[in-house]
Amino acid sequence: MIHNRSLLTKEWYKVPFSADCPGCGAQTRSAAIVVGPSSLVGDPGSASKTDVLARPRKTLDAFAFVEALGGQTEHVERSIVNRFHSTFAFLDSQLTSICEHCAENLPPAAIRSAVMNGFIRLGQKRLLVNERLLFFASHVMLTEFRGDSSLEESEMWDPDYALLLVCDTESTTGETGTIELWHSIARDDYAIVVKGHNGREMLRDGFNSDLKEVVTTVSDLGLVLTQLHLAQASSPYCALARDLFLEALEQAGYRQAS
Ligand SMILES: [Zn+2]
Repeated sequence: MIHNRSLLTKEWYKVPFSADCPGCGAQTRSAAIVVGPSSLVGDPGSASKTDVLARPRKTLDAFAFVEALGGQTEHVERSIVNRFHSTFAFLDSQLTSICEHCAENLPPAAIRSAVMNGFIRLGQKRLLVNERLLFFASHVMLTEFRGDSSLEESEMWDPDYALLLVCDTESTTGETGTIELWHSIARDDYAIVVKGHNGREMLRDGFNSDLKEVVTTVSDLGLVLTQLHLAQASSPYCALARDLFLEALEQAGYRQAS
């Protein structure tokens, strides 16, 4: 079990299950959250918006059931609770699965095995989808799955990714770093790699089907872009990526400082 860490992820699954509600005694359907191997865990309490360039995190490298999730959670409210409000709620500042009948908390001990078994069973049938919305929580408790899981590997590092752009970036606290923009034609995927000022890798993020999603991720991380450089000055492919990226930034409301 992983106790009291921060969690930054864009790989998570809503896993449906049935269980007996300890509150009203009826059988209820609800859902819980399982996060994937590319999720990043770090020191508790660190805020994604202020330190993504400053403090390194470790990849989880396993699937894990979210036992408890709290602290700084504004992303979670937007990505989970507001979308699935009959399934999840914040009770006592903790994300919890709730009973469809009485809306009471379904405690982790009462649902853990149903969720983990359901995840493996539905995953084998490819009935689970990565929700792909970035969220950050400052305090989580996770139970990792043992052994290999049957879900498709989430590793994005593939020889067919090409580096297109390198952007200088700055966080709201003035930390500087770079964001690399990679693209795979074969996978139709954009990936970003965020590095600190010393070149240390802080975050890798794939699963972006277009540049709009890349812009959303960058803005959710609280990063401002200060300069764009082509990875290869003479490449028309890189120049096209720059134009498309600038267009996506402009559509999202970003303005170039003159
Ligand atoms: Zn109930």
